[in-house]
Amino acid sequence: MSTIMTVLGPISSQSLGFTSIHEHLFLDLTRDTANNDSVLNDIELCYRELMRYKESGGVSLIDQTTASLRGHDHDLLEDNHAVAVRKMAEKTGLNIILGAGWYREPYYEKKLYRMKTDEIADELINDIKIGIDGTDVKAGILGEIGSHFTWISPVEERVFRAVARAHNHTGVSIATHAVKSPVGLDQLDILKHEGVNLKRVIIGHCQSYPHFEYHSEIAKRGAFVSFDRLGTTNAYEHEIDLKIIKNMIDAGLIKYILFGQDVCRKPDYYAYGGKGYAYISGDLVLELNKLGITAEQIKQITVDNPRRALTGLD
Ligand SMILES: [Zn+2]
Repeated sequence: MSTIMTVLGPISSQSLGFTSIHEHLFLDLTRDTANNDSVLNDIELCYRELMRYKESGGVSLIDQTTASLRGHDHDLLEDNHAVAVRKMAEKTGLNIILGAGWYREPYYEKKLYRMKTDEIADELINDIKIGIDGTDVKAGILGEIGSHFTWISPVEERVFRAVARAHNHTGVSIATHAVKSPVGLDQLDILKHEGVNLKRVIIGHCQSYPHFEYHSEIAKRGAFVSFDRLGTTNAYEHEIDLKIIKNMIDAGLIKYILFGQDVCRKPDYYAYGGKGYAYISGDLVLELNKLGITAEQIKQITVDNPRRALTGLD
């Protein structure tokens, strides 16, 4: 596929530019955290934070806010979620690619326990071909698709298989949520079993399991390694983040690396003391330069690799 579907319609993959691979504009994480700082629904503040990203060189971003992260039990926004994201793309001029799918089991609707795998897949195909939640805003990626624990639960496996089938039907890439364990390899096993070409798969949150053996194994299978809470970790963790990025580059695996910030809590916002959406395009570039990583290499990670991950083209 040489075109990429944004919330405003298809764009040429050549116009993708600097891309953060994993972000959220509006989301509600309170299904399994009691903390209200995990609700993002301030439209004006979101706009200001996104404009900082744009002014620092950001051109595109992938909003991986899947079903139930878009608000549950109550409305997150006045507008339908997908419509609100589209309006933000219009207002900011950013290319925003919005995700379809289901996050992880605590966020599943009860119906998933009763639906057949193909029925779940059909709904996802609808999100991609017709529009999300009854709108005409089309999803451009399947993700983030997660496993809650360090293993994949039975119903999560069903969702992974449905996602694989929706991918096989539509050609849209897949991004996962895998934390604090090598569970991303189990996710790849299921997707592979369903016939997915793993070069269309992005394994998320790889910095949360900071072991080179894990990252290199994902790359060996042809999938992408996403480091996507960059700038939100403490100083010690940040040192490790830089080390694991450097290890991958030194091992000749740069073509599998992707960067994101996964803004998902109010303290992540610049306005509340965090680094916002603009850390990768700003300070991180300088820090990587100091480690001997060149501007050309950073372009490969932030421009070329996202394009390859979304299209499957080299
Ligand atoms: Zn996320």
